[in-house]
Amino acid sequence: MNRIALLTSGGDAPGMNPCIRAVVHAAAEKNIEIIAFKRGFMGLLDNDCALLEIKDTSGIIDHGGTILLSSRCEEFKYDEAQKEAVKNLIANKCDGLIIIGGDGSLRGAAAIAGRGVTVIGIPCSIDNDIFGSDMSLGTDTALNNIIDVIDKIKDTASSHERTFIIEVMGRGSGYLALISAITTGAEAAIIPEVTFDLEGIAARIKERYKRHKTSNIIVVAEGASTAYQVSRNLSKIAGIISKITVLGHLQRGGSPTAFDRLLGSRLGFAAVYELIDGNSNCMMGLVKGDMTATPLQIVLERRKGFDDRLINLAKILGS
Ligand code: ADP
Repeated sequence: MNRIALLTSGGDAPGMNPCIRAVVHAAAEKNIEIIAFKRGFMGLLDNDCALLEIKDTSGIIDHGGTILLSSRCEEFKYDEAQKEAVKNLIANKCDGLIIIGGDGSLRGAAAIAGRGVTVIGIPCSIDNDIFGSDMSLGTDTALNNIIDVIDKIKDTASSHERTFIIEVMGRGSGYLALISAITTGAEAAIIPEVTFDLEGIAARIKERYKRHKTSNIIVVAEGASTAYQVSRNLSKIAGIISKITVLGHLQRGGSPTAFDRLLGSRLGFAAVYELIDGNSNCMMGLVKGDMTATPLQIVLERRKGFDDRLINLAKILGS
């Protein structure tokens, strides 16, 4: 292994930069060059690449986003583009490829591994919905961003005796909504994994008002409903007037937390060592505290389970 290609793809997440830095350091220690492709798969197609050295990654550990840039590249789903990517990797004398990205990017990783390229994926998704890693890069920072905002909103909610509906990211996964509800003491979380009973939530809010518990926070995952819809229905069902906050992109920005810096550093190192050991077509992940390789086929086929105990915890703490 003399030269490894590296790219970040799909939705950016805090932790990508610490991971890039770790890949470069781990490779340098083994006298391996890193060649970075810009804008994810787009850079592989355009052959937009340059050597990445330790000096290029200094001062980035505390930066969100990705210094390599990221993009979506629809063409990469098709034969022509994948063949072009392989051609460029060979022309640049790359012996392996590390892809940092979410579910879509890992599908791209599997596609190119299927064309004979030695590939390792690194899970990066604020939704924490990737099988094969207990936590994905970026999830912890996004959670901390969310709870920071909810804590602030609670000040107003309790001062003005109001109900607030907070919409967070998570199209297919309610992880951010559920964990932020538990960790802010919110009254309810509405998530795609569980059929929600708005009438039950409305009855609980009314009962809380009777007990003079006058501030109510409901966290909604975008994949389950919208804050506007929940607010409208609460008003229709029970005459409850609520305020709305949609957090949007502020959830995925900002300086990575200690957890994401450490996870990115560990995953970056582990990916380089996995390539040196001759492995391919797998994803490095955090499993029960250890760096573990899972075949990409399994990562992409299986759905990450949801811990029912967390749902129960949220129910009991929110009542
Ligand atoms: P994320 O990686 O954050 O889930 P996307 O789902 O947008 O983000 O995927 C990022 C990129 O991965 C896509 O723009 C495309 O280039 C590539 N990709 C997604 N799905 C596939 C697929 N089935 N085959 C090959 N490449 C894919």
